[in-house]
Amino acid sequence: MATLAFVPEARKKRAPKGKFAIPDGWVARGFSFEVEWPEDKEVASSIRSQFGGRRYAFNWGLGQVKADLDAHKTDPAHQSVKWNLYAMRKRWNAEKAAIAPWWAENSKEAYATGIADLCVALKNWSDSRQGKRKGGRVGFPKFRCRHKDQAGVRFTTGAIRVEPDRRTVTLPVVGTLRSKENTRRLERLLGKGSARVLNATLSQRWGRLFVSFGCIVENHPRSMPTRERVGVDLGMRSLATIADSDGNIIEVPNPAPLRATLTKRRRVGRQLSRRLPGSLGHSAAKAKLARLDRRCVNLRQQASHQLTTWLAATYREVVIEDLDLAAMKKGMGRRAFRRSVSDTALGRIRPQLTHKMGWRGTQPTVANRWFASSLIHHGCGCRLIEPKRLAKQLICAVTGEPVDRDRNAAQNLRDWPDYASCGSVGATAPFVPGPSSDGTGGGSDAEPLGTWRADVRPPPRRCAVRGEVRTEPGNGRGTPRRGATSSGLTRVHSMATVV
Ligand SMILES: [Zn+2]
Repeated sequence: MATLAFVPEARKKRAPKGKFAIPDGWVARGFSFEVEWPEDKEVASSIRSQFGGRRYAFNWGLGQVKADLDAHKTDPAHQSVKWNLYAMRKRWNAEKAAIAPWWAENSKEAYATGIADLCVALKNWSDSRQGKRKGGRVGFPKFRCRHKDQAGVRFTTGAIRVEPDRRTVTLPVVGTLRSKENTRRLERLLGKGSARVLNATLSQRWGRLFVSFGCIVENHPRSMPTRERVGVDLGMRSLATIADSDGNIIEVPNPAPLRATLTKRRRVGRQLSRRLPGSLGHSAAKAKLARLDRRCVNLRQQASHQLTTWLAATYREVVIEDLDLAAMKKGMGRRAFRRSVSDTALGRIRPQLTHKMGWRGTQPTVANRWFASSLIHHGCGCRLIEPKRLAKQLICAVTGEPVDRDRNAAQNLRDWPDYASCGSVGATAPFVPGPSSDGTGGGSDAEPLGTWRADVRPPPRRCAVRGEVRTEPGNGRGTPRRGATSSGLTRVHSMATVV
């Protein structure tokens, strides 16, 4: 019955204050199950009440922070509440009786989740402002309204159980919920004592209810992958083009679920806009749209999980690109292109791969962002000519033969950095006939515009390692010369001279 297995004392490690340390040999994993909305109306409304409580605490905290910021402007000696979970919860507990006399109806975890979410949002904003955070700028948190809030309450204490019938999950305050799918994959581990539940998050999406368990799981020994090395070119035509060290090329199709459902979505969207809010027809159209959304999300998830699981289990070394997806979504031409970028969801692949390879003690190799994998001709070294932007078939500048862009990129990545040049291909432009370096190149690599100009080119990294040879630009594939330097255009790292 006791499904909460605990880590034996000997395996416990001392964690830094306030942090949980994963014991050696264990890994963090999440298990998510969709559960049915309870038929009992009272229980269902209690669940909605938890979500509301969470949102209320978030908005209350944000109100406090804003009031503090305003007060600080007029009176620099004003005592503001600190932006951490501990201080804010303390203030909440002191004030809850006055501002939310109904607080006892919900779990304390509901309010704690709201405040914790606010603290994360504030930290992200402040880190982003100070330049400590990667990625796009993060805005100041906004008040959440009922219709737009991504509701989710995280329980960390109390009765969190996956029952042995493999259909029922138990949460504190909420009680038992029936899972729509078998919970075997978690229950089995809990039964054996090789998993431990740390928290459970109850959340709502597309009107459906989900419970996800944050667990630590004993990392059972896995067989080492049998194959050596592989280069993975991520893209939108096919999700991934894979070139391995045995010479195989594998193309993984892109499900592109948004593109597949776009026509349908437009039709349903029109239906929705024609119907009266609050009517049965309106809610039916809304549900239809949500169903399409959900299907898209699931298809993307399935594709990336299958790809990353297979890669991690098959290859010891996986070379992937360091894609600047934020830039691809922002600046790259047509709207349909940017939509495809989002539709493909390339951003999830690298973290998933890192996570799954970690179970076997390996790590993916990430190629330099400035390495123009699709425009350097593998095995030739020329800069390929693009007949059209983002063209699939490129043309060799030396022989004029057609080259498949994605396959070429995958092969380049597989041999990175031993074989490939670490300089930008823009540097070879003056002596290889090709399109003018007007900064409109790129394609799925999304090299920012600057990469084509030698003056803004970042200093080449990893030079002089593992057979990197620098050559005179004039005799591209001739005699290698060590240590050729000087600014921009004259320094060329030709891949043709290596190997
Ligand atoms: Zn060529």
